[in-house]
Amino acid sequence: MKKAYGMGNHSGNKYWTEKVIKLIRTQYNLGETFLVPSCTAALEMGAMLVGIKPGDEVIIPSYTFSSTANSVLLFGGIPVFCDINPLTLNIDPNKIEKLITKKTKLIIPIDYAGVPCEIKKINKIAKKYSISVMVDAAQSFGSKINSDEWSGSQADLVAFSFHETKNLSCGEGGALVVNNKKFIKRAYIVQEKGTDRRKVITGMQNKYSWVDYGSSYILSDILAAIIYGQIENQKHIIKCRSNITNCYKKISKKYDKFLNSINQKYLKSYNHHAYFFLFNKEKEKINFINNLKNDYSISAYIGYSPLHSSKMGKKLGYKKNDLPITESCAKRIVRLPVFTDLGCNLEDLNYVNGAIQNTLNKIFNL
Ligand SMILES: *Cc1c(COP(=O)(O)O)cnc(C)c1O
Repeated sequence: MKKAYGMGNHSGNKYWTEKVIKLIRTQYNLGETFLVPSCTAALEMGAMLVGIKPGDEVIIPSYTFSSTANSVLLFGGIPVFCDINPLTLNIDPNKIEKLITKKTKLIIPIDYAGVPCEIKKINKIAKKYSISVMVDAAQSFGSKINSDEWSGSQADLVAFSFHETKNLSCGEGGALVVNNKKFIKRAYIVQEKGTDRRKVITGMQNKYSWVDYGSSYILSDILAAIIYGQIENQKHIIKCRSNITNCYKKISKKYDKFLNSINQKYLKSYNHHAYFFLFNKEKEKINFINNLKNDYSISAYIGYSPLHSSKMGKKLGYKKNDLPITESCAKRIVRLPVFTDLGCNLEDLNYVNGAIQNTLNKIFNL
C-alpha cells in the first residue's frame, strides 16, 4: 500500500487496478472486469447497463441486503420479491417463472453465505423470456459453481464486494464483471461519468467528451493495491475460514436432530464466507443467541430482516405472509461468527466450539 501511495497515481484504473483485474480474470475465468467503490456501486452500474427505467420489474430474493433492491429502485424499477430455497436460503428457481410479466427486465439472485445460487436454471429461464441476469455475488468471491466454473463467470453481469465484512477486503470496494459482450462498450462509459475517456487512455482519441449517462464507479488505485495483497494471501484466508466452517459442520452433524444448516452437498466448493444454524423454532434461536452472549460473550447474528416485510417492502405493497419460507427461515436463523483471524487462532476457535456445544446442550437439556 505504501508503494501504491508513493507511486502518486491515486485515482482509479491505473497500475494496481490493472494488475488486480488481470489476476482475477485469469484465475477465475471472468469476463471484462471493473473495480468499483462497492458491491452496491457495481449493482447500480449493472442496472444502468441493463437500462432499468420506471416501471420495469426486477425479480430478486427478499432474503438479501437492501442494496440488491435499491440498485433498481433508484432508476424507477420495481423489485418483485421471490421466495427462497430453505436448503441454501438462495432464490428458488422454481418460483421465478410465475413472477415474470411483460415488464420483467432483470433477475438478481444472490449467493448467500458464499454458496452460489442455481445459476444454470436461472439463466435458462432468463433466456426463454429474453431477460438479463445479474448475480449479487457480494459474498461468493472464490467459490465454485461446479468443478470447472467459478463464481462470477456464468451470468450476464456479476457484482462482488470487497467490504470489510467479506472474505477479501480493502475497507470499501467491489467489482463488476461483464460477461455478456453487449454491455462492455457502455460499461467503460458508464464507469467514467458518461464520457468516452477510455478511448483517450487507449490512444484511440486525443480528447474525450460527454456521450451517455453515467457516474463515478471507480475504485482508487491505493485500494486496488490492498486487494492485490489480499488475493495473493487468499489461500491463507480460505484455510483459516475453512477451519471455522469445518468445526461448525461437525457441530451441525452432531446436533442434526435439533437444527439444520446449509445442506452439505452445497458446501463442497464454497469460499467459507459464512455459516448458519437454522433452528426449528424462533424461541430456540433467541435462547441460543442470548445464552451464548451471556455465558461466553460470543456474538452470533440474526441474519437479514426480509426486505418484503421491511418498512420499504410494505410501502411497495407486500405483506409478511407473501413469502412464507423467507419469513420462516429469517425467524429461525443464526449466523455464527466467521472471520479470518478466528480461524487462525486455534485456542480461540476451541473456545467458540466448546461454547456453542455447551449452549446447545443447555437450551435442549442434553
Ligand atoms: C455485503 C453485501 C452487499 C453490499 O456490499 P458493499 O460492498 O458494502 O456495497 C450487497 N449485497 C449482499 C448480498 C451483501 O452481502
